[in-house]
Amino acid sequence: MTGASSGIGAATAVELAGRGAAVALLARRQDRLAAVAERIRAGGGTAEIVELDVTDADVVAAAVETVVRRLGRLDTVVNNAGVMLLGGFESAPPQEWERMVSVNLTGLLHVTRAALPYLNKAAEQPPRQVADIVNISSMAGRKAFPSGGVYNATKFAVGAFSESLRQEVTSRHIRVSVVEPGVVATELASHNRPEVQAALSGQFADLETLRPEDVADLIGYVVTCPRHVAINEVLLRPTAQVF
Ligand code: NDP
Repeated sequence: MTGASSGIGAATAVELAGRGAAVALLARRQDRLAAVAERIRAGGGTAEIVELDVTDADVVAAAVETVVRRLGRLDTVVNNAGVMLLGGFESAPPQEWERMVSVNLTGLLHVTRAALPYLNKAAEQPPRQVADIVNISSMAGRKAFPSGGVYNATKFAVGAFSESLRQEVTSRHIRVSVVEPGVVATELASHNRPEVQAALSGQFADLETLRPEDVADLIGYVVTCPRHVAINEVLLRPTAQVF
């Protein structure tokens, strides 16, 4: 589980542990991962913490090996780590584009590549004989909007890559699923520049947003479907979200 230190990732780790999975929690903030692990262990679950910056291919490869060494196998990957840095294209610093591309897209590719040899093995072996890759895209991966151009581009790319990969691996019983949430109450927008945050504030003030647990519940369902059922794409919005 990448990006397990907060928001959707933390909630999904708790959800999957509750469904009986031994969960590896990966992200950069160790203190936050420790809190999630403690919660899982307090509920009787199994959680391992592995520090990870998804932008570094060597670090990713080592982290995936550590996960397999500690937990014995890898049969489900949730590519959730992401950043959303908004703002008009002309005024946005190029470093923000680069960060979104390297986390949301290249990071997801690094993790997927490192995990596939183990997912192949898991898909061949009992008890499940199926493996899962869940890629967290966004409603922004279906619909572009002003001030979201590079974020949109990364999430559209996640959708395109996921469909191509699905066609390559699905006959081996590796399922590839894309989950596309609308607005979820998390820390995601808090990493924006102050002027962008000011412009965003109030935009969804009256909206009853999704909670991270709503997305986690869906992911839990997706990865526990019977072996012959693959849920390849799900768009979920808060009911009152119009766009
Ligand atoms: P959060 O900001 O709470 O979570 C983002 C996670 O990504 C954190 O755990 C963070 O961990 C991790 N992360 C960021 N950069 C890196 C990195 N370089 N290496 C490893 N991990 C990293 O936001 P959300 O829970 O909302 O976001 C999760 C996913 O959901 C993202 O992909 C986002 O695009 C997507 N999404 C969110 C929506 C929303 O409305 N909130 C809507 C649609 C999609 P750390 O900083 O500890 O490394």
